[in-house]
Amino acid sequence: MNGSPRPGVIERYRDFLPIGEATPNLTIGEGDTPLVRAASLEHRLGVAEVWLKLEGCNPTGSFKDRGMAVATAKAIEEGAHSFICASTGNTAASAAAFGARSGTPTGVIIPARGVALGKVAQALIYGARVIPIQGSFDDGLTVVRELASRPGVALVNSVNPYRLEGQQTAAFEVVDTLGDAPDELYIPVGNAGNITAYWQGFRAYQNAGRASELPVMRGFQAAGAAPIVTGESLANPETVASAIQIGNPANWERAVQARDESDGTIEAVSDEEIVEAYQMLAADEGIFVELASAASVAGLLRRARGGEVIGGRVVCVLTGTGLKDPGAAVRYAPKPAEVEANIDAVASALGWNAG
Ligand SMILES: *Cc1c(COP(=O)(O)O)cnc(C)c1O
Repeated sequence: MNGSPRPGVIERYRDFLPIGEATPNLTIGEGDTPLVRAASLEHRLGVAEVWLKLEGCNPTGSFKDRGMAVATAKAIEEGAHSFICASTGNTAASAAAFGARSGTPTGVIIPARGVALGKVAQALIYGARVIPIQGSFDDGLTVVRELASRPGVALVNSVNPYRLEGQQTAAFEVVDTLGDAPDELYIPVGNAGNITAYWQGFRAYQNAGRASELPVMRGFQAAGAAPIVTGESLANPETVASAIQIGNPANWERAVQARDESDGTIEAVSDEEIVEAYQMLAADEGIFVELASAASVAGLLRRARGGEVIGGRVVCVLTGTGLKDPGAAVRYAPKPAEVEANIDAVASALGWNAG
């Protein structure tokens, strides 16, 4: 057998992507992530089927690898000699990985404060030039848009259309696994590229006859970073969910279009609701995500509790792994107390009766 036994998104979905003879088949093993049933959530909410798309199982720990595979492959095809991006962390980690894989120097601009340590660590160890700036993600994006006008420099933020092309593959996988589109798709919204890409993907699959229906798109922003919900951009968005701490989403209009065309909603969830969903996913489903990812499930919980009718089959996108930010887990989990190193002390700390 030729090639990789586990093809990346370019090879697996090339018929649905802008891939030609000259496009390198660049992959770090992204895509093909698990879609798992959430029995505890189903039981709790009385929803027939809740599925979780585990995008944290991508090689760098977030869905960003899907779009980055296509964006970097196309950039190389078009003669780029450097990649550049602004990032709240996950785009940086992914760009750095594909930069390393393809031997392309990569610059990543991150806010000096608020980026999870795991993400910075990844970008550094993959060998990217990491530049922390005294400003927000949005400030960083303004800078890199300028820098990317230099010849040979490819901007790999989600304003790069190939990012969204690649990110559609998650929607393809959902349909390929379930046999059709779900009734509703719950998804965190930051820069709003992912909600746009899923919608594009579901529509492409429907046009190709692979899905008979389209889902209702349900996007969720953090309440302190909810410009699409309020209709006003923010200079200083505030939320514990750093990956969606974005005040002026690059794909704002297209996300609104996805919302409206699907008869869906984009709503806000509070940091408390995000943290609750984060804890619940870990403790009740055994799935450890990053805070931003929990916004989709926080949104599902909020709608169910608000008495909204929930579709019979829903998919919640869990965008990234919790291991990116172990500090958050330590902050939001009970603190263990130290005990003496003997059986009685340990048994008693466990709450077990003396044997
Ligand atoms: C990038 C990211 C998001 C937000 O996706 P957008 O396309 O910017 O809306 C959400 N969660 C995680 C973990 C991310 O890395």
